[in-house]
Amino acid sequence: MENSKNPSNMSTNSIIRSFIDEMVNLKYIFLLLAAVVVMGCNSADDLETDPELEPYFDLFAAEALLRGITVDYEARRIEGLIQDIPNTSIQGQCFRNEERPNKVVIDVNYWNNATEEEKQFIIFHELGHCFLDRAHLDTRNSDGTCVSIMHSSPSVCAFNLTEQNRKDYFNELFLN
Ligand SMILES: [Zn+2]
Repeated sequence: MENSKNPSNMSTNSIIRSFIDEMVNLKYIFLLLAAVVVMGCNSADDLETDPELEPYFDLFAAEALLRGITVDYEARRIEGLIQDIPNTSIQGQCFRNEERPNKVVIDVNYWNNATEEEKQFIIFHELGHCFLDRAHLDTRNSDGTCVSIMHSSPSVCAFNLTEQNRKDYFNELFLN
C-alpha cells in the first residue's frame, strides 16, 4: 500500500527483493544438497546404536570376551535401534544387509516395560542371530525350561533369566 504512492521506488524494491529471493533459494538448494550428502553418508557408513541399548551391547561384548570371542560391532557393521514393531508378537528382530549396517531392532513397547533381565535376554537373543549367526533352538530340558536363549518364542519352553542361570545360558549361547 505504501509503495503504490511511489512507483519507481517500488520497482527498485522489487528488483532488490527478487535478487534476495534468488539468493535465499540458492542457499536452500545448497543446504538441501548438503543434507542429502550427509544423510547418504550416514545410512551407508555410520553405526547409530541407540544410547539406551549401548550398555547391553557392551555387556554382550564383555560376556563374549570372557569366553574368548572378540566382538567388534564396527567391523561387523551391527547397530541397534529401538522402534515401534507393529506386530505385537515380535519383541525384537535382526536385519542383515550387505550394504548398510546390520540392524538389531527392539520394539519400543517391549523395551519400555522390560525388566533388566528381559533387556539382557532380548539383546543377547538378537545379537545371537546378528553377531553369532545362530538360528533358533527350541529344545527343552526335562523340567520344561529352555535349553537356549535362542528359543523361538515364549510359548515353546519356560524361560526366565536369573543370576543363578545366566552363566549357563551365556555359555550355551557363545560356546555353541
Ligand atoms: Zn529369534
